[in-house]
Amino acid sequence: MSTLKNASSSPTHAPADRPISLTAPSGIDRAAHHRLDEAWLAAAWSHPTTRVFVVSGGQVLIDDGPDGTTELVMTPAFEAPVTETHRYFLGTDADGVSYFALQKDSLPGRMDQSARPAGLREAGLLLSDRDAGLMVHAVALENWQRLHRFCSRCGERTVVAAAGHVRRCQACGAEHYPRTDPAVIMLVTDDQDRALLGRQVHWPEGRFSTLAGFVEPGESIEASVAREVFEEAGVTVGEVEYIASQPWPFPSSLMLGFFARATSSEINVDGEEIHEARWFSREDLAAAFESGEVLPPYGISIASRLIERWYGKPLPKPGDVV
Ligand SMILES: [Zn+2]
Repeated sequence: MSTLKNASSSPTHAPADRPISLTAPSGIDRAAHHRLDEAWLAAAWSHPTTRVFVVSGGQVLIDDGPDGTTELVMTPAFEAPVTETHRYFLGTDADGVSYFALQKDSLPGRMDQSARPAGLREAGLLLSDRDAGLMVHAVALENWQRLHRFCSRCGERTVVAAAGHVRRCQACGAEHYPRTDPAVIMLVTDDQDRALLGRQVHWPEGRFSTLAGFVEPGESIEASVAREVFEEAGVTVGEVEYIASQPWPFPSSLMLGFFARATSSEINVDGEEIHEARWFSREDLAAAFESGEVLPPYGISIASRLIERWYGKPLPKPGDVV
């Protein structure tokens, strides 16, 4: 029987971990009550402090400042390329600045020599919490808009409403809201505190990570964790501990991160999703990194943070000497 408890009640995990990308509060109030207020939106759009950025195909323009920080390239609304676009209202900050994203078929020409296009996997590691939060909101809306142009009730075309947060069917009147698909991602440990890591069939040799999968209809997340671990690795799971979540709009997931305690240790991979799975002690994993047998995970995924949290210190980056 799985149980769910909150990580904050557990003394076993030091809070000194590096933050999980895209998880921190962005400081933006989404101000959903303004989304249907066309007069308010028009006034906000034309206000001189308002900031606008373009999102296209999951990419935005980012720019490296002279101080080493990287920012989302934003302009006042009057400089924004507004033709043939959808406008998403993303919210306001504590200073009353309003933020909009424009969805376009392509990014505008580079505004200066250093601005460059970037997707979330790159930008999510570089941007401030505010800018990463704005970007992930815009990318998630864009993905949903792109895949929901037709009404799932009657099949007719839908139109954008509520400043990008609703699609409305003019034929049958149905309103469609953005979808978020819950997925579970879990670091499973056994009674020797070894971690179960797997290699997906399409991953290169040596690339191991946590197990993960989608929550199915009518399923609790605790049951989903246990089912996915058993399906992929043949290991049974008892206690499940929630750690953190991460928006993952590739195209529309919310990753729910867990530690899970195994109640069996024999591995039997499914061979369909997972090609290979192994139990690693911390010493095993360090030695495998050092020899190059295992490639350390990297990037913005919560997977690397879950492994790091168990490992107890930052994981080596590719090229580091362990
Ligand atoms: Zn319809």
